[in-house]
Amino acid sequence: MTEENIQNKVDVIVIGAGPAGVSAAITVARGGKKVVLVERANAAGAKNMYGGVVYTHAAKEIFPNYEDAPIERYVSKHNYVLLSKDSSTEISYKNTNHNGNAFVTIRAKWDKWCVEQAVKEGVYFAPNTLVNELIVKNGKVCGIRTDVEDYFADVVIIADGVNSLLAKQIGLRKDIKPKNVAMGVKEVIKLPCEVINSRFALSDNQGCAMELAGAPLKDLFGMGIIYTNKDSVAVGIGVSLDDLKEKKLKPYELLDEFKKHPFVAELIEGGEVVEYSAHLIPEGGYNHIPKLYTNGALVVGDAAGLVNNVHFEGTNLAMLSGKYAGETALDALERNDFSENTLCLYKKKLENSFILKDLRTYKDVVQILLGRTSSFLNYYPAKVNEFFEIFTTADGVEKQGKFRKFTKDFFRKRSLAELFKDAVAGIKLIFGVLK
Ligand SMILES: Cc1cc2nc3c(=O)[nH]c(=O)nc-3n(C[C@H](O)[C@H](O)[C@H](O)COP(=O)(O)OP(=O)(O)OC[C@H]3O[C@@H](n4cnc5c(N)ncnc54)[C@H](O)[C@@H]3O)c2cc1C
Repeated sequence: MTEENIQNKVDVIVIGAGPAGVSAAITVARGGKKVVLVERANAAGAKNMYGGVVYTHAAKEIFPNYEDAPIERYVSKHNYVLLSKDSSTEISYKNTNHNGNAFVTIRAKWDKWCVEQAVKEGVYFAPNTLVNELIVKNGKVCGIRTDVEDYFADVVIIADGVNSLLAKQIGLRKDIKPKNVAMGVKEVIKLPCEVINSRFALSDNQGCAMELAGAPLKDLFGMGIIYTNKDSVAVGIGVSLDDLKEKKLKPYELLDEFKKHPFVAELIEGGEVVEYSAHLIPEGGYNHIPKLYTNGALVVGDAAGLVNNVHFEGTNLAMLSGKYAGETALDALERNDFSENTLCLYKKKLENSFILKDLRTYKDVVQILLGRTSSFLNYYPAKVNEFFEIFTTADGVEKQGKFRKFTKDFFRKRSLAELFKDAVAGIKLIFGVLK
């Protein structure tokens, strides 16, 4: 049987209806080709989780009508918080153009809305469809095997998320190592809208994205987040899986510790936990991006490890990598050539975009910080708080003596060798990023 005669054949199959998959599928449909988007869950978004921030530039590029989506709040304020055991130092950046950079959505609602737009534009959506394996013939991926039937396509776009068993099946990537992923755990805590507005100093439509580092996460490589929805707050932590394993810590116990910190506890006091979820986050960065294409297939989003952890960006890299894969599939269909020679265009598109440029910029950051976690994510946050404690306290005691003690203590607890290592790491970070 020739490929043209095969039953159940479309131009493109996309596996996974997350931000990467839906963006790939809608791009193919807009090019006038037949595309099926398959998803193992019974609805888009049902098996997905994230903190909550979607970046406007990517949303606008895929969905020009994104403002019709179920947006919770526009991120008008971005706060960074350093926590010591019982104090906190906060830097707040406020953007007066509240429709600007990002907005907060709830995954179950946002993913569903995105798929609805894709269906309106001609994508065939197949929920409840678990892809068990890719069908490979004569060295080319040519379809998918599900519990029900086999389906065929000229191009298969693999958007099945962080674990991507399917990219692994065809040898594009290896088993993911614990040191290259973080475990994210998150609770959604319900609070009245007015309480959120007052605690975070927001008006109804405005939202706050907060990233926190320090004491409650002990010496672990990880950070916390607090994002505001309309009438709930997402509180979560993301911690290196390797660290959790090595120190035998349970992520939900750490999240409890985090929620007990006075800074966090004040923000969520009186709230009711209405949702708990956990998910892996790719942490390998540029150095661990797998091969992104093979004959008949492309890998996008988390499946390709496209996450910028330094800036907490994942959905935008997923959506735009999906778009570039969709465009590449259209180009291959035009040429009627589905070999690597044509599909390599996808990698070129990623290279010419901010995606691989940014990931390359930060390629060594995780490794450098991993080696100095205790300093950068625990000791220095504590010291910053101690400094402000001294600086702001008026207690009738002369200042010079306090600052002298602070400095002496600083050097007593951090040997010169440790400080030297931190300085080298800091310089490497700065020059690595500026290169
Ligand atoms: C705790 C946490 C917080 C985050 N916070 C943010 C944030 O605030 N902002 C941000 O931009 N990014 C954030 N991210 C990252 C972001 O969520 C991801 O980068 C993004 O969701 C990746 O999209 P994706 O489409 O590649 O994969 P996913 O969203 O994981 O989608 C993969 C889809 O494939 C389906 N699937 C898997 N296997 C199969 C199969 N065999 N057959 C059929 N379907 C299958 C799954 O059910 C799923 O729907 C966060 C991630 C985590 C874990």
